[in-house]
Amino acid sequence: MAFKDIVGQSEAIGLLRGAMHRERIPSAYLFLGPRNIGKRTTALTLAKALNCREAAGDSCDACPSCRKIDEQVHPDVETVSPDGRFIKIGQVREVTNRLALIPFEAAKRVIVFSQAGRMQDPAANAMLKTLEEPPLNTLLILCAERAAQLPETIVSRCVPVRFGLLGPSDTRALLESAPKLDAKLLDFSIRFSQGRLRPELPARAEQWMEIRDEMIKGMEGLNRPVFTQLSQQMARWGSNEDWRFVLEWLESWFRDLVFLAEGIGPARLINGDRLEEMRNCAQWFDGERAQKCYRRVLDTRDAIGINANKTLALEAMWLGFKDEIRQARAGA
Ligand SMILES: [Zn+2]
Repeated sequence: MAFKDIVGQSEAIGLLRGAMHRERIPSAYLFLGPRNIGKRTTALTLAKALNCREAAGDSCDACPSCRKIDEQVHPDVETVSPDGRFIKIGQVREVTNRLALIPFEAAKRVIVFSQAGRMQDPAANAMLKTLEEPPLNTLLILCAERAAQLPETIVSRCVPVRFGLLGPSDTRALLESAPKLDAKLLDFSIRFSQGRLRPELPARAEQWMEIRDEMIKGMEGLNRPVFTQLSQQMARWGSNEDWRFVLEWLESWFRDLVFLAEGIGPARLINGDRLEEMRNCAQWFDGERAQKCYRRVLDTRDAIGINANKTLALEAMWLGFKDEIRQARAGA
């Protein structure tokens, strides 16, 4: 992918191309912004553009250098991602040791640290040494959601570049160029991309839309005494990867309920197309209760993240919602 093909990050790309044009590329950039909006893609495109043998100021995507970077076999362009939950000191040392040697073939060697916010202190300290004495002809690009995830000593040695969420028209353009989605699935995909690049969405949209329908039905049935059916569903969702979307959807639903209670209009609600059902739910979940349930969803995701049994965690969360309704009915 070349700079001209990257959607929705014109400000960041303008800044990078300007620095290239003036030959003022620093030794380290810090790309900041939410996940899945194109930071890593832009970093690798910059690596290509800096080394391209054909195009000036961009990547041609065809010369040997561009192709090697795309195929992840360029000896001077590397990406370091978390090994498990963290980027470890061994990973940082392995890369920085190599920086003592001159580049094999690149005009500019580029090392991209994706999710650099997941560096533990020893790894960050190892990185700091390289930032303090930057090797020649080398560019480090650290990608993180927020500067606060990294030690100030690292942040202060990098030039920050901010990346924003994509606007609805950018998201629509991206999804429309993807495999054919009917109007309903396209609308659903735009709602749930929430300004991010989500390449998995077109393929999952139909399945996720079904899960949303089941969950909304379950939400409306929460005030009835029996909910065996959804309990079985929780077991099924917990046994595969669907639990991720179940939690994502619940997060969006309770966030919407909080917004609704604050009088925010349907255009800003992710589930604004299901307003009637949301209003039914709002009978039980006022702003405060919706906020509590929202927290419960985040806590459930954290618990699963540290290895809680998924099905049990989902069921406990669901019982928690039911308990909120019971309290609402009791006027507690
Ligand atoms: Zn090229």
